[in-house]
Amino acid sequence: MTLDKKHSINNILEENRLFPPSKEFSDKSNIKSFEELQSLKKQSLENPTKFWESFANSEIDWFEPFQTVLDRENAPFFKWFKEGKLNITYNCLDRHIKNGIGNKTALVWEGEPGDNKKYTYQELLKEVCKASNALKSLGIKKGDLVCIYMPMIPEAMVAMLACARIGAPHSVVFGGFSSESLKDRLIDGNARFVITADGGFRKDKVIELKKAVDAAIESGANKIVEKVIVVQRTKKDISMVNNRDFWWHELLKDQKDWCEPEIMNSEDRLFVLYTSGSTGKPKGVVHTTAGYNLWSHLTFKWIFDIKDDDVYWCTADVGWITGHSYIVYGPLSNGATTLMFEGVPRASNLGAFWEIIQKYKVTIFYTAPTAIRSFMKSGREIPDQYDLRSLRLLGTVGEPINPEAWMWYREVIGDNKCPIVDTWWQTETGGVMISPLPGAVATKPGSATFSLPGIEVEVVDKNGEKVVENEGGYLVVKKPWPGMMRTIHENSQRYLESYWEYISFKGEKNVYFAGDGARIDNDGYIWIMGRVDDVISVSGHRLGTMEIESALVSHKSVAEAAVVGRKDDLKGEAIVAFVSLEKDINSFPEIVEELKKHVVNEIGIIAKPEKIIISDSLPKTRSGKIMRRILRSLAEGEKISGDISTLEDSSVLEKLKEIS
Ligand code: ATP
Ligand code: MG
Repeated sequence: MTLDKKHSINNILEENRLFPPSKEFSDKSNIKSFEELQSLKKQSLENPTKFWESFANSEIDWFEPFQTVLDRENAPFFKWFKEGKLNITYNCLDRHIKNGIGNKTALVWEGEPGDNKKYTYQELLKEVCKASNALKSLGIKKGDLVCIYMPMIPEAMVAMLACARIGAPHSVVFGGFSSESLKDRLIDGNARFVITADGGFRKDKVIELKKAVDAAIESGANKIVEKVIVVQRTKKDISMVNNRDFWWHELLKDQKDWCEPEIMNSEDRLFVLYTSGSTGKPKGVVHTTAGYNLWSHLTFKWIFDIKDDDVYWCTADVGWITGHSYIVYGPLSNGATTLMFEGVPRASNLGAFWEIIQKYKVTIFYTAPTAIRSFMKSGREIPDQYDLRSLRLLGTVGEPINPEAWMWYREVIGDNKCPIVDTWWQTETGGVMISPLPGAVATKPGSATFSLPGIEVEVVDKNGEKVVENEGGYLVVKKPWPGMMRTIHENSQRYLESYWEYISFKGEKNVYFAGDGARIDNDGYIWIMGRVDDVISVSGHRLGTMEIESALVSHKSVAEAAVVGRKDDLKGEAIVAFVSLEKDINSFPEIVEELKKHVVNEIGIIAKPEKIIISDSLPKTRSGKIMRRILRSLAEGEKISGDISTLEDSSVLEKLKEIS
C-alpha cells in the first residue's frame, strides 16, 4: 500500500438526489444563480486583496480607514485591515439608527416561562449604552476580559455588546456548564469580572447560575475574580457578597443612555471563546474586531439571503460560536430582526420550536442536526400540528447532517419548498466557510456543497497532496480569511501545532487544517466525513464515521447512530455502532442483525458493524455533538480518560457502561 493510500479516507456512501432552488426563490435572492456565485468566487481567487478590500469598505463603517488588507509578516499570525479603527457595536447598532431603521425590531425574545420582549434598534442601543456605563462605573476598562455566564435572556446580548462597546473582550461561557468548567475558563482567561444571573430556566428546571459562580470562585477563582454583576431573572434567593457582587438593575438604573463607542483597532481582541470539546480539552479561541465583524456580517448576508422583513431565528445558545456570529453579531450588523429563545424542546413541550415559528411568523430557521434527529424521533405528528408556512429558508450547523435527517427536515419542516443551507464551520473560523447560497446552488442531502467566495478549500493527504475526486482526505483552507482565529488564548504553541503544522506541505506554508475529513465528488460538492481523529481503519480501508452512521440512520427504526473503531487483530479495527431507536421501536433481538444487514446493503460488507449496542441516548457535548472519543473508550473496554467536563449528561455514560 502506498503512503497516500494509507492516509486517504475511503468514500463509501452514494447519494444522488439533487434539489435546485425554485425559480421563484432564486429570482428574489440576493445572489440569483450559480453563474453569479462563480463570478464572485473567481474575483476572490484572482485578486483576494481587492476582493476583501472592497467588501470591507462597502459593508463595514470605519472611524478611520485601513491601509493594509492583509499583513502576512508574522504568518500564521495574520493581521487583517491593520491601521483601521472601528467599533463593532457601531456597525451593529448606531449606523442602523443613522440609516433610519432605528424603529425596526432588532431583537425578539421569548422566555421559557412564556414571558417575552422586543427591542427596536434604538432601544437596544440605549440599553447597551446604559450597560456600558455601568461596566465602566465598576472600573472595567478597554482590554479587561469579562466572563459572561448567562441564560438566554436579552441581557446576555446586551452584556456582550456592552463589553464590545467599551473595548473589553468577552468570554461567554455556556450557562449549562458546571461550576468546575466555569472555574477552568475563568482561570484560563484570567477574567476579573463576571456577568451572570441569579439563575435561568431550562427544561422545566431552574439552573442556579449565581451559586455556580460562587462555587467557582470559592474553589479556586478567588484570586482572579474581583467583581460579579448579577441579572435578576428567576428571583430566587441568592447570596450577594458586599463590594464584590452587584445587581445589574441597580447598576443600570441611573446610567445615561448614551455611551461613546470606544475606538478599537482592527486587531484588538473582541472575544475569547472555548470550543465545544468534542475531540479533547476545549481551546480558548481568540477573535479580533474588524475581520470578525466583516466575516460574520458577510456570511450572514450571503447565506441567509436576508431581506428587510425577515424574522430570523437561530436556536443556538449565545455560549457557542453559532450564537455569537448568528444570533448577535451577524444579524445585528445586517440590521436584521433576530429571535432569541430561552427554552429548548423537552418532554413536556416537544412542539416548543414550532410554536415559536407559528407565533412570530419566523421566516428563516437555523438549527442543529442533533435537534432535527430528536424531532424525527418524536414523530412528524408534532410539527404537523403547527402552522409553519411562514418559513422560507432552513439551515443546519454543528455536525454532519445525515441525508435522511436532511430529507425529513426538508419535507416535514420545509414543506418541500424551503432550501436548506448546511453550513460547515468552526469556532476557529469565526463564520461559515462551506455552504450553499440558497438561491444559487442545487443542494444534495448531506453535502455542505461549496466553499464561499473568498474561501479556498482543498482535500489533501497527510503530505499535503491534493487527493483525487471522490477520495477522502484532510480538509484544509488554503488562504487566510478575515474571520479566522488569531491564536489560542495564552497558548500560541497549540495554535501552531493544531492548525498549521499538522500536515506537512511540500513547499506550501500556512495552510489551515480543520481537523475534519472530507471528500469532493465528481460535481465538486464537498462532503464532510467526520473528524479525522475518529476515522476507522478496517482491513486497510480508512472509513469516515459519517457515512456508516448515515447508513444506519437511513433505517426506519434508527433515530441516531455513532460508530467507532475497536482494535482487532485481524482487521486492524472493527466497527462498533451505538444506536438509539425511534420512539415506538422496542429493542427486539432481531434488530441488531437487521441493522448489520442494512449497512451491508447500503454500503457493502466492508462497513458491516461487528457489534451494535442499542442505547436510549448517546453521549454528547453540551453543544449537542456526539462525543465519539468516549464511545471509543467504551468499545475498547478502557477507562474513560481525557476531558469529560463538556459532556452534557453523565448519566448517559453510566448507562452505557452497563450495557457495553
Ligand atoms: P473541539 O474542537 O473542542 O473538539 P468542536 O470541534 O466540536 O470541539 P466547534 O467549534 O463547536 O467545536 O465545532 C466545529 C466542528 O463541528 C467542525 O470541525 C466539524 O467537525 C463540526 N461541524 C460543524 N458544522 C458542520 C457541518 N455543517 N457539517 C459537518 N460537520 C460540522
Ligand atoms: Mg474543533
